[in-house]
Amino acid sequence: FNGSKGHIAHADAVASNDDRRIASSEQVPKKKKVVLLGTGWGGMSFLKSLNNPNYEVQVVSPRNFFVFTPLLPSVTCGKVEARSIVEPIRNIIRKKNVNISYSEAECVKIDPNNKKIYCRATIDSHSKGEEVFAVDYDYLIIAVGAQVNTFNTPGVMENCHFLKEIDDAQKIRKNVIDSFEKASLPNLSDEERKKILHFVVVGGGPTGVEFAAELHDFVNEDVVKLYPNVQDLVKITLLEATDHILNMFDKRITNFAEQKFGRDGIDVKLGSMVTGINENEISTKVRGNGEKTSTAYGMALWSTGIGPRPLIKEFMKQIGQGNRRALATDEWLRVEGFGNIYALGDCATVNQRKVMEDISEIFRKADKDNSGTLTVKEFQEIIDDICERYPQVELYLKNKQVRNMVDLLKEAKGDAAKESMELNIEEFKSALSEVDSQMKNLPATAQVANQQGAYLAKCFNRMEECEKNPEGPPRFRGTGRHRFHPFRYRHLGQFAPLGGEQTAAQLPGDWVSIGHSEQWLWYSVYASKQVSWRTRALVVSDWIRRFIFGRDASG
Ligand code: FAD
Ligand code: MG
Ligand code: MG
Ligand code: MG
Ligand code: MG
Repeated sequence: FNGSKGHIAHADAVASNDDRRIASSEQVPKKKKVVLLGTGWGGMSFLKSLNNPNYEVQVVSPRNFFVFTPLLPSVTCGKVEARSIVEPIRNIIRKKNVNISYSEAECVKIDPNNKKIYCRATIDSHSKGEEVFAVDYDYLIIAVGAQVNTFNTPGVMENCHFLKEIDDAQKIRKNVIDSFEKASLPNLSDEERKKILHFVVVGGGPTGVEFAAELHDFVNEDVVKLYPNVQDLVKITLLEATDHILNMFDKRITNFAEQKFGRDGIDVKLGSMVTGINENEISTKVRGNGEKTSTAYGMALWSTGIGPRPLIKEFMKQIGQGNRRALATDEWLRVEGFGNIYALGDCATVNQRKVMEDISEIFRKADKDNSGTLTVKEFQEIIDDICERYPQVELYLKNKQVRNMVDLLKEAKGDAAKESMELNIEEFKSALSEVDSQMKNLPATAQVANQQGAYLAKCFNRMEECEKNPEGPPRFRGTGRHRFHPFRYRHLGQFAPLGGEQTAAQLPGDWVSIGHSEQWLWYSVYASKQVSWRTRALVVSDWIRRFIFGRDASG
C-alpha cells in the first residue's frame, strides 16, 4: 500500500536498474524542465525551497510579484502600505543557484498529451498581448490559485469590490476615503450622506470580518478626527448567509466576534442571503422565512469564497474531473492520473486514501507468515507505514484518546489484552472501521499552499537520489529515509483580527485565546513570516507609523 502510489514503484527495482544503464550511456544529461504556473503562496514557497541545480525552471505568471495576502485587509484602510507587502519575483529567483526564468504571461491551456502549455503575455502594451506562445515541460507545477466566486448573483461583478489582489486593496482604500470626502460635500441631505457611508460586507469569513474590523477601527480612530461632521452617519453591515460568522473557527471565537461586533455597532445580519445588487441597493433574502429586503448602500465588499479559475475548469474537463471544484491530486500532490503534473494551493485538493479501501492489502502485507491472523509483533512492524500513509489514523487515536494503534486493536479484541493477541481480518477491519471519519479536506489557506510548495521543492531536490535508490541504502532500508513521504499538513494555528487591537488566536490542540496580547502575537508572527527582510522592515515601520501618526487618509 506504500509502493505503487509513491513517487517510486519499489517493485520495479529491475526496471530502474535498466533506466540507470540507459541514463549513464548518454553523454551530457539534458536538464529536466520544470514549468511553474503562479507566483502566489504555493509558487513562491516552491521557488524559495528549490535548490537542485539539475532542473531548469520556467515560471509563468501574470503577476511579477508575490503578495503577502494575510496583510491585504490592513492595506484597505491604510494601516499598511501596498508596496510593503509585495516582493518582486525577480528578487526571489535571482539569488538561486538554480536556473530560473520568468515570463509575465498567463497560461491559457494545458496540453498534457504533448507536455505543452499555451500562454498569453499579459504585459500592457500596444500589441495587447494577443499572441499565444507554447512552452514545453517535463514537469508541470500548477499553482494558479482560485478566483472569487459570485455564485452567479446578478450585479456582483459590476457593483462590488473584491479583496484578492493588491489592486483590489488599493481600490478599496481609495473608495473608502472617497466616500468620506463625498459625504462631506455641501448640499447633500442626511439621507444621501447616510447612503454614501453605508458600507456593506458580504460574507462572514476571515476576510470579510477582518475588513469590517479594519473599517470600524478606521472610523473610530481616524475619521473622528478627520471627518468629525459625518462620523455619526457611518454604518457598517455584515451579511452572512449561514447562522454564524467565522464558521471555520472555534465556537468561542465565533461568539466573541459576534458579541464584539455587536458592541462596536457593526450590524451583523446572520442567515441573510444576497440575491442581487445594483448601483444603489443591495437585495437580500432571509434564509428560512424567505423575507426579502432592499437596502441603500454606498460601498460593498464581496467575500463569500472562492471557485476554480477558467484554466482549471477547462483542464478538469479535459482530464475527466469535470464536476469538481478543485483539481484532485494524490498525497504526493500529483494530479490524479499524471506522473509529471503537480498541483497545489487553492487550485488543488488532496484526495486522501481511505484506510478501509486498502484494508485487505494492509492486512495481507502485515501478515508476513501468511497465517491469516495478525500478531501484535507483525502489526507493530507496519504501524509507522500506516500512520505515514494515512494521516487520519493519528487524528482518530487522539480524538478517541487511545494511546496507540496496538491499544486500539486490543480494545477491539476485548478481554484478550495480551501480547499474544491475534486478529483475523474481520476483527482488524472492525477495529479500524471508523478511522476514515477523521478525514478532512485541507483548507484553502496560505499555510497549506506554503507547506505544499516547500514539500514539493524537497521532492524535487531529492528526486534523482530517490530514483536511483528507492529503498535507500541498506543501512536505512525500511526507515523511509530515502523515500518520498506523502504530503502532511501541519496546522500551526489561525488568527482572526477583530479590531481594536484585539485578535483571536486558535492554536493547535484547540487552544483558543482572544485579546490584546494575541494582537501582538499576530504582529510578530506576520512580521516573521515575511518573505524578505525588505518587506519585513517596511511592514513593521508601517505599523509603527500608524501607532504614532494614525492612518494616512489621502487617496
Ligand atoms: P495564490 O497565492 O492566489 O497565487 C496564484 C498565482 O497564480 C498568482 O501569482 C496569480 O497571478 C497566478 N495565476 C493566476 N492565473 C494564472 C494563469 N492562468 N497562469 C499562470 N499564473 C496564474 N491564508 C492564511 O493562511 N492566513 C491568512 O491570514 C490569510 N488571509 C487572507 C486574506 C485575504 C484578503 C485573502 C484574499 C487570502 C487570505 N489567505 C490567508 C488565503 C491565501 O492567500 C491563499 O490560500 C493562498 O494565496 C493560496 O496560494 P496559491 O499559491 O494557491 O494561490
Ligand atoms: Mg502560487
Ligand atoms: Mg498569494
Ligand atoms: Mg487546496
Ligand atoms: Mg500472521
